[in-house]
Amino acid sequence: MLTGDRPTGALHIGHYFGSIKNRLKLQELGAEIWQIIADYQVITDREVAGDIVGNVRNLLLDSLAAGVDPEKATFFTHSSVPALNQLLLPFLSLVSVAELQRNPTVKDEAATAGIKAISGLMLTYPVHQAADILFCKGNVVPVGKDQLPHIEQTRVVARRFNERYGAIFPEPDALLSEVPMILGTDGTKMSKSKGNVVELRMTADETAKKIKGAKTDSERFITYDPENRPEVANLLELIGLCEGVAPATVAEEIGNGGGGELKKRLTEAINTELAPLRVRRAELAADPGYVEGVLRRGNERANEVAEATLAEVRTAMGMSYA
Ligand code: ATP
Ligand code: MG
Repeated sequence: MLTGDRPTGALHIGHYFGSIKNRLKLQELGAEIWQIIADYQVITDREVAGDIVGNVRNLLLDSLAAGVDPEKATFFTHSSVPALNQLLLPFLSLVSVAELQRNPTVKDEAATAGIKAISGLMLTYPVHQAADILFCKGNVVPVGKDQLPHIEQTRVVARRFNERYGAIFPEPDALLSEVPMILGTDGTKMSKSKGNVVELRMTADETAKKIKGAKTDSERFITYDPENRPEVANLLELIGLCEGVAPATVAEEIGNGGGGELKKRLTEAINTELAPLRVRRAELAADPGYVEGVLRRGNERANEVAEATLAEVRTAMGMSYA
């Protein structure tokens, strides 16, 4: 399994329910876990990387505190694995510019970031992501819904490479969660970059404050109607995920209690769900050098595997020299 995050901020409950839970399930099933911290992807929709060192550390703390086991998982940073990045070149030869320009997620992300002239990196990052997935022969990729076009692009790259040069790569499958897109407090996709998040590392009080400000609608009576009441449905789904209850049942229980009761129940549910993670995170953060050690070991392993795959690719392409 390969999955990853951009080091643009701390992880939030969208990541937790949208992707991390599936990562943990696969870990329990004994899958080999690869977890990329996609640092080069940060500069797709912004000019500079910002506090990337701090963000990488936060990402690692969040993932480890959530239960990803560094004995079973390889964490690595994009920029630390040159052989992986080199795969981008042959892979780019397998896709057309028109195909890249059609990618709906790239278009959405550019629009959200207010980008008028899409850079070459932004246009091609789905192919870069194909290299991330394929260098370790990833075949399962737990992701949110926004990533589906990129997984499809990866399948196309793998298929075309295999047809042209011989079978080296698997065609990976996306693994969506039950809730493939968690909405943020403003009713749009919860995103690190948008400030509409409940971060995993927040205190119980910060969580309460964030949820209190979440957008709902003017109808008092609570019903579960994802089509017409997406914001309310999102909050009900989150309660359902924490408590293991159907969102419609939660809606019936709250009914006339309205938005106030809905938010109170969600706050309690989230704080209960995340309490052990938050304690663990504080412990890990207090252990000097721990997080850095996990990353150093992961980068070493990623380099070994990337070099082996690149050697295979170069041989298949007839490019292995003395
Ligand atoms: P950014 O705003 O910097 O793009 P992000 O919050 O979108 O940050 P990413 O690092 O881009 O987070 O995404 C990491 C993974 O988490 C991806 O698989 C993505 O699909 C998933 N994910 C992100 N946001 C959500 C969400 N709101 N609901 C479900 N899954 C999500
Ligand atoms: Mg994103």
